[in-house]
Amino acid sequence: MTFKLRAALTAAAAASALLAGSGAQAKDVVIHAGKLFDGTSKTLRSEVTILVHDDRITGVEAGYVDHPGAEVIDLKSSTVLPGLIDCHVHITSQFDGGDPVREAVTETSFDAAYKSTRYVKATLEAGFTTVRDVGSDTDLVVALKRAINAGTVPGPRMWVAGAPLGPTGGHGDPANGLDPELTHPHWDEVTIDSPEQARRTVRAYRRRGVDLIKIMPSGGVLSIGDDPSLQLMADDEIKAVVETAHALKMKVAAHVHGTTAINHALALGVDSIEHGSFGDAESDKLYKAHGAYLVPTMLIASAVYDIAVTHPEKLPPTSAAKAIAVTPVMQGNLNRSYKAGVKIAFGTDQGLVPHGQNAREFALMVKAGMAPVDTLLAATQNAADLIGDPADIGSVQAGRYADIIAVNGDPTADVTVLEHVAFVMKGGEVYKRDGKPTH
Ligand SMILES: [Zn+2]
Repeated sequence: MTFKLRAALTAAAAASALLAGSGAQAKDVVIHAGKLFDGTSKTLRSEVTILVHDDRITGVEAGYVDHPGAEVIDLKSSTVLPGLIDCHVHITSQFDGGDPVREAVTETSFDAAYKSTRYVKATLEAGFTTVRDVGSDTDLVVALKRAINAGTVPGPRMWVAGAPLGPTGGHGDPANGLDPELTHPHWDEVTIDSPEQARRTVRAYRRRGVDLIKIMPSGGVLSIGDDPSLQLMADDEIKAVVETAHALKMKVAAHVHGTTAINHALALGVDSIEHGSFGDAESDKLYKAHGAYLVPTMLIASAVYDIAVTHPEKLPPTSAAKAIAVTPVMQGNLNRSYKAGVKIAFGTDQGLVPHGQNAREFALMVKAGMAPVDTLLAATQNAADLIGDPADIGSVQAGRYADIIAVNGDPTADVTVLEHVAFVMKGGEVYKRDGKPTH
């Protein structure tokens, strides 16, 4: 098949890109990749040409092939990979070492909106061309996604959950630990205390434009007072969320630490367990029986632990003690689930660490016992599958978006090379070249 014919076959995709407002001229690019990790195989290929027409990959050919009229991008001395995917970020906030309680009551979502334009840019330039946001102000993160899709703000593709749902007094209840007289128009809309409330809220969230639902079946670490080891959402509430979300073709991500809550959430059909700290052998059976993913979030675990030990006063009251109890078990938990054959998807829980440092997660996953190449699959193929769009993202194959990155060195031997991404293309547009941002 000729390059021209392939290009014609993607005309529909190109037309939709133009309608989406990119306004760009039709463009053909060939990328000469010295090595290619394509997101489908554990083996690196050598000397490969990737054909790009507008925002899509139209072919992958052996050898360095030139196509008349196409711009050539020379990555012969690099390893090329699919754009990375982080399945657990909070893209509209970042821990800056200040007092998080003060910030929560002195800043508005407008402050977060301005700051988040920097966070999405840093994330994209770090090679993360897609993120799944599982906890941000709902209307803010939906608007941010729209702005990125419209080309107003440079950033990764986003799948967004809005503000997480949970019970009164649970991990997602913003009023936890504060003066009970304090109130805010948005605080009550994230608490659900019955199946009826769960159904109505999930439907209302869909109406507001979210892509998935995030729930808080157990308590958490960075909230005041609630206990991570306890199941705080009732089974019928979890069940109502899962059924309503799935009926609307939305996935459900569940923040869970405690064993009982993990096993109940898995049995009730959630699509991923976030953190999953106190999982056990029974959990691994349930993950596999239901095809659910573990998103291990090792980066936040290590970062919170470090702060808890060195500067506990910088965390919300009660969080340091919880971090010291929870985080050390997370490495062993990932190790056990990985060995049991549980599906793992990459997720960092950014931004406790500055946005753009997401790739530090890879080394922590390797430290927990994962093979380097399996951490790469967790951030490409598996993440795309968990998000639910493997036809568009997560691999370098014909038909996928041209979301392509490159690093110097071999990430299947040393994953830390991913902490210094040299080249970033998203949807056929170059955002970083020779290690330098282009926007
Ligand atoms: Zn989180």
